[in-house]
Amino acid sequence: MGNRQSTATAPRGAAPKSARSTSSKKQAPQIDDRYAAFKLAIKPSKIHRWGVYAAEDIPARRKVIEYTGERISRRETRRRSEEQGRMIYLFTLDSYWTIDGAVGGSGAQYINHCCDPNITTTIRNGRIFYLSRRPIRKGEELTVDYHFARDIEKYPCKCGSAKCRGTINLID
Ligand SMILES: [Zn+2]
Repeated sequence: MGNRQSTATAPRGAAPKSARSTSSKKQAPQIDDRYAAFKLAIKPSKIHRWGVYAAEDIPARRKVIEYTGERISRRETRRRSEEQGRMIYLFTLDSYWTIDGAVGGSGAQYINHCCDPNITTTIRNGRIFYLSRRPIRKGEELTVDYHFARDIEKYPCKCGSAKCRGTINLID
């Protein structure tokens, strides 16, 4: 553990290794509507634990939600990613800063990985925005490609898409 993504657009999602969190699984987390441009809902997901779903139709190429959280340094990122028994929601902003969605997250940190996602990421002025790659229908789960680095521990992917590369990590 202790690995970080090397690319700027690489959120460190809910690492399966940390899934033995003891926190309540019955109470669904909430979307912070201040950061969402469309109606979204958090519900159990077939991909992993919780997922974020469109509660209304979303057109292509629109801002959907901002990924918020505490801004932490490289050293603090390393410390938190090595903590056990805790869900990891670290999004690498650049070579120094990481956003920890576990602290002050908008709910975007619950968006699961998919190898053929309907959400894409853009970073503007140090803020992370999730945009729709294509039209998303009401009821669809939102997904984003976590782009885990090639050179870190391999996380198997169960996204179920026809384009699944078998791992959340990028491959050549
Ligand atoms: Zn996949």
